[in-house]
Parts: sequence; C-alpha cells; structure tokens
Amino acid sequence: MSAFGAADSPVDIYDRLGNELGVELLVKRDDLLPFPLAGNKVRKLFAEAEQNAWAPGDVLITNGGVESNHCRTLALMAARLGAHAHLVMHGVPGKEQPALRLLESAGATYDVVLVDEIAQAIEDRVAEHSRMGRTVRVIPGGAHTKAGVESYVDVGYETIREWEPAHVVVASGTGATHAGLHIAGDRLGVPVTGVSIARRGERGIAAVREAVGWVAPECAPSIRFDDRFTDGGYGVTSTSTTDTVALAWRHGLPVDGTYTGKALRGLIAMVGEQAIAPRDRVLFWHTGGLMNHLVSL
Ligand SMILES: *Cc1c(COP(=O)(O)O)cnc(C)c1O
Repeated sequence: MSAFGAADSPVDIYDRLGNELGVELLVKRDDLLPFPLAGNKVRKLFAEAEQNAWAPGDVLITNGGVESNHCRTLALMAARLGAHAHLVMHGVPGKEQPALRLLESAGATYDVVLVDEIAQAIEDRVAEHSRMGRTVRVIPGGAHTKAGVESYVDVGYETIREWEPAHVVVASGTGATHAGLHIAGDRLGVPVTGVSIARRGERGIAAVREAVGWVAPECAPSIRFDDRFTDGGYGVTSTSTTDTVALAWRHGLPVDGTYTGKALRGLIAMVGEQAIAPRDRVLFWHTGGLMNHLVSL
C-alpha cells in the first residue's frame, strides 16, 4: 500500500464562512482523501504501511477508544489488503455500539477492555497470533509514529508552499499531525498552531515536541500549542464548541465536536485576538471526524 500525496485531497476556498470570520479561509480537505471514512489516520496509516511493507496475511494489532478513527481506518485497510486487524479498545465491556458493528463489517476482531487492561490484552493477542505462525505488527495507538509525522511534513510542505497561507491551524491529539505540519511550516516560515483536543499544558506540548524530535529536533522551540479549547477532555464537547460546529455545517463545512470543531474554535479565537490579522489567508487543516459528529447527534 503506497502513501497518499498532497494532490490526493483538495484545498477548498470557503469564501462565505471566511467573510463571516473576517479572513480568507482555505480548507485542506483530508476528510476527502480517497479512502472510506477519510481523515488524518488515512495518511498516517498508509505511510506506516508503506514504510513497513504490510502484506496480505499479516495480523495488525492496535489500540484505541471504541469511537477511534484510527481503529476504523486500520480495520478497513486490513480488509483491503487481505490482512487481519485486531483492535484492543478501551470502553465499557459488553456495550453494543454501531462503531463495533462497523469494525465487524470489515472483518476485524476486537476486545473491549478497561484502560489498565490494554497492555496485557495486546500482549496476549500478539502471543496467540504468533503461535499460529503469522507476522504480527503492533501499531501504536493513534498511528503516533515517525512515518505518520513524516507523511504530514511532506503534504504540509507542498500544500503550504503552493497556497502560501499566513497561518495554518490544525487539531492536535497525539500530536503527530501537528508535529508534521509544524516542521513543514517552520521550514517555510509559516506559523502552524495546533489546537489541543484533550491534553493541557506541558504534557501536551511535550508530546508534540517529542514527535517533532523524531524528524527535525531543530524545529522544536517554535511549537505553537493552544490548549484553551479542550472542553475538559477527550470526547467532551461544550456548548461553545457545539455552536461552532453548527455554524460551520451551515456554511457547508462538516466539522465535529471531538476534533475539528475545537480546532475551528481556536482559529476563530485567534482572529478575535488579532493573532490572525483581518483578511489574512488562513489554512484550516481538516483532519476528518465525520463519524464522531454522527454519533453525537
Ligand atoms: C486522530 C484525529 C486527530 C488528531 O490527530 P493526531 O495526529 O493524533 O494529533 C484530529 N482529528 C481527527 C478527526 C482525528 O481522528
């Protein structure tokens, strides 16, 4: 499976929403990459698959929440490749959910366990499949890997160079996507702000700094990390975020309350504070999340 390039998702100009916010708003549509349920996990996981030469018959094991886009994407990639995905997911065991049925549709298997049981469950499944003589690959949660960061350095560099925005804004979770775009922006002299969707303060910045360090340690000092819009944690959505999500949908921009809606709130705050000047060209990097919006309705 070969990685996706910059041309595999469009940049759309959102003039009506941009006018409302007082900026020239461009949106990099990684939610429209040509793969089911598209988002940043598609770029990160395809880069990982290419770098490590995933092959038919492999067993791909990873972990994430029940609503994890990383787990869904891995299940679909495994099905496409003829590999097998096993997901170790934290949640309430026994709870029947559409997200689990989706994974079953793609032929994936899973365990739903408590958070402190994840490591043991992964170990058990690795042992079980290895005994059967299969090639087992354990992929870090969220595809938080060097290959994932590198994929975003490449697409970030090409996209920023072509469109020359004054600012780039993206949702920051594990920080790999933010790290990749940050490195690209740093090399081109364009500030990239990661709006945190869960982590606060030093812990959040440290994760991004580590990911930057895997590829370009010299870019670490200038990381911009805004942790004011987490709404108290992963999967928590305030009414302010819900209002922003509703505004965006009414302008034809499909964002969600877990990831991209928080990033858009960060962008709007930056305009209000004049950290982004009126009429500036802003590139909002859309990382996906449509499924997260649907389950919240
Ligand atoms: C996973 C995810 C993110 C966060 O990406 P990281 O590289 O982990 O920071 C942002 N948006 C969506 C929709 C995601 O699924």
